[in-house]
Amino acid sequence: MHELSIAQSIADAAREHASQNGGRRVVRIGVRVGEISGVSVDALQFCFEMTVKNTDLDGAALDPEPVPVRYRCAACGQEFHPVEFLADCPACGATGASMVAGDELGMSFLELE
Ligand SMILES: [Zn+2]
Repeated sequence: MHELSIAQSIADAAREHASQNGGRRVVRIGVRVGEISGVSVDALQFCFEMTVKNTDLDGAALDPEPVPVRYRCAACGQEFHPVEFLADCPACGATGASMVAGDELGMSFLELE
């Protein structure tokens, strides 16, 4: 399962960060999940709980933040959410906008006790 390996790498990163901070207990882990990252927030949540059960991270909460897809127009700089995957700029009609958000996946913050 895709989400399981992601959950494990998030747990590993959180453990490493906590041990660098004197082994404090991890309370909350923020994760940015892009709209087209291919990851289901529900599945990730489930896999994370399964991964940390009966470990030093047991009880730590995963706090996923969905990140919508955003394009930025190369011509006028307008940022917009595309209706279709390859959308024209709604402000000036130019093509050639590039994606600036929506495919990210990773830890955004870590809350320690
Ligand atoms: Zn534009």
